[in-house]
Amino acid sequence: MSETDPQKIAIVGGGPAGLFAAEYLTQKQGFEVHLFDQKPSVGRKFLIAGRGGLNLTHSEPLPDFLERYGQAAEFLKPHIEAFPPQALRSWAEGLGSETFVGSSGRVFPVEMKASKLMRAWSRRLLENGLQVHLGQSLTAFPENQNLHFKDRDGHRQNFTADAILFAMGGASYPHLGASGSWLSLFQDAGLKTTDFSPLNCGFDCNWSPFLIEKFEGQPLKNIAMSHKENRIRGDLIVTKYGLEGGAIYALSRELVQSCKSDGSAQALLDLLPDMPEEKILRRLQEPRKKLSFSNYLRKKLKLSSLTIALLHEAGGSAAMPDTQLAALIKKLPVAIHRPRPLQRAISSSGGLKCEELDQNLMIKSRSGLFAAGEMIDWDAPTGGYLLQACFATGIAAAKGIEKWLNR
Ligand SMILES: Cc1cc2nc3c(=O)[nH]c(=O)nc-3n(C[C@H](O)[C@H](O)[C@H](O)COP(=O)(O)OP(=O)(O)OC[C@H]3O[C@@H](n4cnc5c(N)ncnc54)[C@H](O)[C@@H]3O)c2cc1C
Repeated sequence: MSETDPQKIAIVGGGPAGLFAAEYLTQKQGFEVHLFDQKPSVGRKFLIAGRGGLNLTHSEPLPDFLERYGQAAEFLKPHIEAFPPQALRSWAEGLGSETFVGSSGRVFPVEMKASKLMRAWSRRLLENGLQVHLGQSLTAFPENQNLHFKDRDGHRQNFTADAILFAMGGASYPHLGASGSWLSLFQDAGLKTTDFSPLNCGFDCNWSPFLIEKFEGQPLKNIAMSHKENRIRGDLIVTKYGLEGGAIYALSRELVQSCKSDGSAQALLDLLPDMPEEKILRRLQEPRKKLSFSNYLRKKLKLSSLTIALLHEAGGSAAMPDTQLAALIKKLPVAIHRPRPLQRAISSSGGLKCEELDQNLMIKSRSGLFAAGEMIDWDAPTGGYLLQACFATGIAAAKGIEKWLNR
């Protein structure tokens, strides 16, 4: 190789983390950037994320923002400080997608989907000279910077790179590409990993046939859900198997843990989070006249048919003393049996342990090999925190590669 030959960089995984690293590196002189993905197109999970509104990031102050990453906050802090939420918004706006802050502080592109952004982004990446190799699945952990891929017909391809970035995602929604199959390759190579678990997922809760028949698919709006010391205001959706929705996703990290350690978990619903228990009690003590129990609750407390049905499921009845009923409305127990399967979770926890990476996101024991995105063992609730960390680690690893190649 002559001194003027470009240095080859291989990025494995074309999700937001890999693509964002590619964007940074293709703008630098002296690098030839190749992106490999096992799917026939890139950014599939990003596009699906956009179907629910594409929550790009969150507008809350940075210290609060960082707290959402729990134990991984310290690991992610320098990367998110270097590429904070405002930088992500500016990037999207630079690609023609204006952003706005929703009522909950979440940030979305005005078009509320990813397709426009993805189209403009892909165009820019190709114009910058990114070389994309689709349908190529990594089959082994690389030794001596030598990558081995296999396509769907079993044809093999080898590629030798000066630096490699892994950005192969977690293990949820595997049909979109992130199948988690890389985990065993990394384990066999002696790297420390954590097995994948579902996160930001729904849960199974044995509803009665009546509740499923009458209320499947209906929302429980403006409730609070708590588990142990954590309490979340938000919405839920009753499904055939249990519950989905923002409030339970936000508690999923702890609920999954409890299901693992205790076999099941108990959550409590506050059906009227804005009304103190004493006020509920006073309303319940007013004369019922000829109203049926359900109509009485509907009129006096503005409870929906679904919340009344849930009260019935938990043993609430006209015969119950008012004090007990008021307490039940504030703390309705819901038995959580198990998380929904990993394949149906919005994200996964687990992956390559943070301690395997240095501050430039290079694998400490393998010079020239880097990692970014959801494949690293950090996790976060929904609210834009997942994408923000994928973008931030993507660009941090890209800068790490630049530094390492120019050392
Ligand atoms: C339904 C849904 C909605 C979501 N909504 C939001 C949201 O609104 N806001 C938010 O912040 N987050 C959201 N997320 C999460 C977010 O999309 C992910 O955290 C993010 O896409 C992860 O980015 P990544 O680049 O790390 O990995 P991915 O996007 O998963 O990309 C990994 C890539 O690696 C490729 N790959 C994997 N293994 C191999 C291999 N062996 N060889 C070659 N290629 C491989 C895959 O094909 C894939 O293209 C949502 C997720 C889902 C499923």
